Amino acid sequence: MNVSLDLEGSRVIIVGAESATRRVRARYQAAGAEVTVLSAGRARVSLASAAGIGTIPGGLPGDEAAGQSAMPHLIVWVEGRESQRIDLLSAARRLRVSMTTEHPAAHLPRGSVTLVGGGPGELDLITVAGRQALLEADVVLYDRLAPTEILAAWAPAAELIDVGKAPGHHAVPQQEIEAIIVERALRGLAVVRLKGGDPFVFGRGGEEVQACRDNQIPVTVVPGVTSAISVPAAAGIPVTHRNVSRAFTVISGHAPLSPDELTHLSGLGSTIVLLMGVGTLVQTVAGLQTHGMRSSMPLAIVERGYSIHQRTTFSTVGEITSHLAAISLRSPAVIIIGEVVRLASGETPNQGAVDLIVNSLPAP
Ligand code: SAH
Repeated sequence: MNVSLDLEGSRVIIVGAESATRRVRARYQAAGAEVTVLSAGRARVSLASAAGIGTIPGGLPGDEAAGQSAMPHLIVWVEGRESQRIDLLSAARRLRVSMTTEHPAAHLPRGSVTLVGGGPGELDLITVAGRQALLEADVVLYDRLAPTEILAAWAPAAELIDVGKAPGHHAVPQQEIEAIIVERALRGLAVVRLKGGDPFVFGRGGEEVQACRDNQIPVTVVPGVTSAISVPAAAGIPVTHRNVSRAFTVISGHAPLSPDELTHLSGLGSTIVLLMGVGTLVQTVAGLQTHGMRSSMPLAIVERGYSIHQRTTFSTVGEITSHLAAISLRSPAVIIIGEVVRLASGETPNQGAVDLIVNSLPAP
């Protein structure tokens, strides 16, 4: 059974050692509870004291004296001997204090690493598994994705390390990111590497997995909603559509496309999704036309998908270059080339030209 409690301002005793209770403690604190962590024995003494029964035999000197400690609203059992749990539970029942059980954080000599895909930037588009990994994390390495306040709430027990490009700061080099991940995990911590979109789509997730495996660190990958599909969708563009396009190719425009790539992409006749393609867009559209693509092929550029500044530009492969100066494109942007683009602009596929439309669309 799942019961929701408002813990704001409530007194909660968490039972167990510091290391085992660290995540549970962080979660209750984040929910606004006033948390005290005690061993099972001390929790029993504290309860007796709150009930005004006096310090029970075996109570330790220096414990709160009879009647001095306030009655807790909730006891959270994390670890201790079973006999102590039963004893505490019956005392709690007598005093009408609720008691619940939570799993201890692992005492592993070796930690773990979880690569989490954070989705395209919209807070709702991270997976449940991703949120769970953050909740359990001791360390989170992130870049430019969620605002720090959100991360602090999502990963209440974690040290947050920004490894991305903040304005005025250099990004932490990839090797150094891997070194931090490995070092923290070898210390026994639960490390989350949070990445935009999906970790394996141009995210260097594969290299981070390899670094963990090289160090015998258990590693899990939680996939994410990739911008390659979701950002076109945010602009109303389906990457495939029956009788229009039955394939889509996601390609990085970080470096200019080779003649072979341009030939094959043009020949495939289906959707092309370019990530990191703003800097090389002029070369890409020129190259596609040289290698067989007709200049009337529709093209859309979706900048800052899912943000309040989302903007979609519709044009064609032949015309976009002459408009670039006027629209001052900025990363991050997803570029979509193909007949599917017409579906967003409401025209029938394969009919008429697509005019340049510069729209400032509200976030969906
Ligand atoms: N792993 C990520 C992609 C990383 S490469 C994923 O699966 O989405 C970074 C590129 O992704 C950017 O240059 C841009 O092309 C695209 N991108 C990511 N988020 C975006 C967003 N919110 N709006 C537009 N483009 C985005």
